[in-house]
Amino acid sequence: MPRPKSPKTLARIERNAKLFSQARFGCPACMQSRSVKIDRRGKPYISCLPCGAQLFVRKDSGVRRFLDRVQNGAPGASTTTPSRSTNPLLRRAHNG
Ligand SMILES: [Zn+2]
Repeated sequence: MPRPKSPKTLARIERNAKLFSQARFGCPACMQSRSVKIDRRGKPYISCLPCGAQLFVRKDSGVRRFLDRVQNGAPGASTTTPSRSTNPLLRRAHNG
C-alpha cells in the first residue's frame, strides 16, 4: 500500500504536473529530447530508455532552475511540443 501523501506533497505534485505538463528536456547522455515526468513526490525527472540515464531534480530551488532551462531552450528542452504521453498525474516513477 502506498503511504498517504502529505498536503504539501499533494500540492507540489499538482503544481509541478501543471508546470511541466508539456515539458521536454535533453537526456544528459545523448542529448535527445525526452518528456519530463513527475515522480510520486512531485519532483520532475527525465528518463532515457536507450541510455538508461535518469535525471532527478530533488530540491525546490533546483525545480525552479530546471523549469527556467526548460522554458528557455536548453538543448532538447521544450514546453510547446505536444507530448505523446498521457496525463502526467497518471505516470508512475520507476524510482522514488
Ligand atoms: Zn539518452
